Amino acid sequence: MEFTEKALVLKVGRFRESDIWLRLFFAGRGVVTAFAFGGSRSTRRFCGCLDQLVLGTFRVGSNRRGTYKVLEEGTLLHAFPGLRSDPRKLGLVAHCLKFVEAVQIGSQGARPVFDLLLETLGVLEMSEVGAELLPLLFKAKLTFEQGLKPDLTLCVRCGRPAWEHVCSDHEPQVTATSGAGLGFSVERGGLVCVNCCDVEAEPLSIGAVRTLEWISSSRPADWPRLALEPEMRRQLGRVVDRFVAFHLGLRWEHGMYRKI
Ligand SMILES: [Zn+2]
Repeated sequence: MEFTEKALVLKVGRFRESDIWLRLFFAGRGVVTAFAFGGSRSTRRFCGCLDQLVLGTFRVGSNRRGTYKVLEEGTLLHAFPGLRSDPRKLGLVAHCLKFVEAVQIGSQGARPVFDLLLETLGVLEMSEVGAELLPLLFKAKLTFEQGLKPDLTLCVRCGRPAWEHVCSDHEPQVTATSGAGLGFSVERGGLVCVNCCDVEAEPLSIGAVRTLEWISSSRPADWPRLALEPEMRRQLGRVVDRFVAFHLGLRWEHGMYRKI
């Protein structure tokens, strides 16, 4: 079945002399692999489109037996020159694209992730977001957009408001080894209050919980405003990484996402 739709090119590879394969992220279909036969020679059909980080409109068909997708034509919409010219930003973009590819997004739930990715690229092209923050924000937001947002109000063990015994003026004493203060149980999917210290949980300060809440309601346009203390960033980084590993089965290792 043939279709024409907007997509972002996540990855490109060559095979044989002039043929190219592409991993395309379509807003309405998720990630699709397609082959552009003669792609490296045909400037007319694919003008500037067969490159990573290109937003274009693509016409896709399939081979006669319907076993694989064939890219028929592409029209370039935006090539993100502001990102291509900045190696630091390009590194952050590569991380986001790898994550989207690794999540293996199908047609269900593709639209919000597509919008999130394009907004992220747009913001990054126009402004600065901390290099250590962007992957964290993007991963957390994408996971929440997949319907996996944790409840950040009630304790997952006793069901009482998790903040009840925490004075918000004074951050609880949180150490990496003790469960003092609020915790986050990845396995149970939410906060653990101070009274339920028998549950294994990652320590999370009040500020870090508020930041998680903020991330879930924020858009990428808000992200350049965010600044975090190193300890809070470490706590959030740990929780988000474990959350992603638990729910999506992905772990960042040696510059790539691995299925675990
Ligand atoms: Zn509790």
